[in-house]
Amino acid sequence: MNDGVPALIVHGGAGSISDPEGHRAGVRRAVDAGFAVLDDGGSALNAVLAAVRVLEDDPVFNAGTGSCLTLQGEVEMDAAVARGDGGFGAVTCVRGVRHPVDLARAVMERTDHLILAGEGAVQLARRLGFPPYNPVTEERLAQWRRALEAAERGEGRFSRRGGWYSTVGAAARDASGAVAAATSTGGIVLKLPGRVGDTPVPGAGTHAGVHGAASATGHGEGILRLALTRGVVEAMESLSAQEACRMAVDRARAAGVEAGVIGVDLQGRVGFAFNTPSMAWAYRVAGEAAVAHAGGPQGVEPAARF
Ligand code: ASP
Repeated sequence: MNDGVPALIVHGGAGSISDPEGHRAGVRRAVDAGFAVLDDGGSALNAVLAAVRVLEDDPVFNAGTGSCLTLQGEVEMDAAVARGDGGFGAVTCVRGVRHPVDLARAVMERTDHLILAGEGAVQLARRLGFPPYNPVTEERLAQWRRALEAAERGEGRFSRRGGWYSTVGAAARDASGAVAAATSTGGIVLKLPGRVGDTPVPGAGTHAGVHGAASATGHGEGILRLALTRGVVEAMESLSAQEACRMAVDRARAAGVEAGVIGVDLQGRVGFAFNTPSMAWAYRVAGEAAVAHAGGPQGVEPAARF
């Protein structure tokens, strides 16, 4: 049975957004790129990858170019892709690639593994012809210096929690009824080298299943404990995407976890929710104009439309 419509929703991170216009423009470009794939009859998987690649190239976001730095002042990125039929691939603590989300897809399609870490992931990238790439930007170096100085003064913690997240993700439903999700991140500022966040772990930051697909942002350790996106997708068995996202984020709030989530269900209904001051998101459903927003909880909630 296929009685739904193509749809795509993307996020550019929850938290406190310092550059709402940059974030809004970025998620809008990403949703346009991803939806063009769906419009051409492309798959949900290709649509989420097209959207996330745009965000990985945009230095405004904490993924690919623009990833935040570890305590050692280096970039270690995490990314994952998930298909509704159970396909999953991820990389963690990966360096020196421009599009970690494409490497996650390669793990899913070219290996029998689910998650590849660090040097092993970089070796796969080179074997497959991903060229070396330096994703460090001046702005993130300055951010790292400020955070490190504050931590050394005793203000705040190393592996900083709170305030700034800007991970990116997407979830889509294509014309055939297939769903997919993808997420990509630099993690959190001053994280210890080797830290694995929620993004590359199935059911935590990224998940797709028989009822839909979802991608999360926020404090990774908390999202891991809650298996946030698995909860969203399982709830879609009886709830709309919007209701499922809202329920999961309410659960996160009750557990004291800062989080935002997006999702799409089998009908092509999209949803998003967050318990942080703001989030960047954009979505487009077939037959309707795209909607994009970066900031607090105003804007056009999908709940109002479905
Ligand atoms: N969830 C990401 C992490 O903890 C951070 C983010 O959403 O920006 O790695």
